[in-house]
Amino acid sequence: MPTTNDQRLMTRIGYGFDSHEFHSGIPLRIGGITLAQDRGLSGHSDGDVLLHAITDALLGAIAAPDIGALFPPSNPKWKGADSSVFLREALKRVRDAGYGLANLDATLILAAPKILPHAAAICGHVAELLRVQPDCVGLKAKTPEGLNLENTAVAHVVVLLERTKRARNATSKRTRR
Ligand SMILES: [Zn+2]
Repeated sequence: MPTTNDQRLMTRIGYGFDSHEFHSGIPLRIGGITLAQDRGLSGHSDGDVLLHAITDALLGAIAAPDIGALFPPSNPKWKGADSSVFLREALKRVRDAGYGLANLDATLILAAPKILPHAAAICGHVAELLRVQPDCVGLKAKTPEGLNLENTAVAHVVVLLERTKRARNATSKRTRR
């Protein structure tokens, strides 16, 4: 019924990038999973480079403010925060805008650890957080050949959103017609 006046695009694409530096003595969190390593990624939250890039991709797809604007590093509230909080907020905004996630493709760049043994667990957890099937989450990991990034983890993410129902905040002024 409401689709005739719905001017929203059928699909929207989003892109997110993030990087964090490795430091010893902190847990390594990637995609909401803690990997047993002697060094982790430092950041104002839990340093989850993958969840941050996904969050920014989702926010970017609906032209919302980015993760740094919504959750400023200067705010002590977010120090050590579980990054799934950021992801959930981004997902809520996507849904409120009347879109759902079709699929996601991510590339991690890091020297160590090897991601392949953990890929299924990471994809499964990310899919659960995003409430999609695991085969909607693509994850590739590369070593930083020639990039001089031995001490850094980088994540690139693209998402595709599909229009669902009406945007939650959309006002319907044409109900009589
Ligand atoms: Zn980050």
